[in-house]
Amino acid sequence: MTAAVENNRNRGGRILCWAGAVALLLTLPVPASAQYFGRNKVQYENREFKVLTTRNWDIYFYPEVYSEENSAIEDIARLSERWYERLSRFFQHDFAITKPLIIYADHPDFQQTNTLSGAIGQGTGGVTESLKDRVIMPLTVSYQETNNVLGHELVHAFQYDITKSRSYGGIMRLAGLPLWVVEGMAEYLSLGREHPHTAMWNRDHLYRDEKPTHAERTRNPK
Ligand SMILES: [Zn+2]
Repeated sequence: MTAAVENNRNRGGRILCWAGAVALLLTLPVPASAQYFGRNKVQYENREFKVLTTRNWDIYFYPEVYSEENSAIEDIARLSERWYERLSRFFQHDFAITKPLIIYADHPDFQQTNTLSGAIGQGTGGVTESLKDRVIMPLTVSYQETNNVLGHELVHAFQYDITKSRSYGGIMRLAGLPLWVVEGMAEYLSLGREHPHTAMWNRDHLYRDEKPTHAERTRNPK
């Protein structure tokens, strides 16, 4: 497990991935209190999205993410196809149709998204939804980190698509797996066997004698 990233899985089929880590939690639905007046998600800007369709993805973006000087969305298009090739080979699986990939220019914009109910924390790096078959994430401060988050979320997109396309119990079967398997796989396939940030979190947990137990890594979000 990598502590740096905490992930949060919703029973409705949604995986929230905290930047940088693998984690382990099966989450509860958004509490009703989150919907009360005064606690709604603030949306202070309207965005007009465009769609860039690549071979395997429908990439939704808005002009801030794309201009003649800023090739970020072209980078996303190239990176997402590269991840697709890599992961489809690894899983021996292909999508039947293209999937939505919704890209926000930065984390504050991502936190305003109306594609998700409930608040998005500062630490959430991206979200993959199974029911609507889409990945939602912001660009990060660096090309490399964006690529890492993208790879992590696209592993989840494959996990969902595979479980939905086989007669093994579907999404609920995936929800029954330990979080360290689901998130560990996403971290391993996106970052590799070793990653300095993950190692740092693990060292910190050991130093503080706060290493999560196996049960915590299996279900507990904290
Ligand atoms: Zn994840």
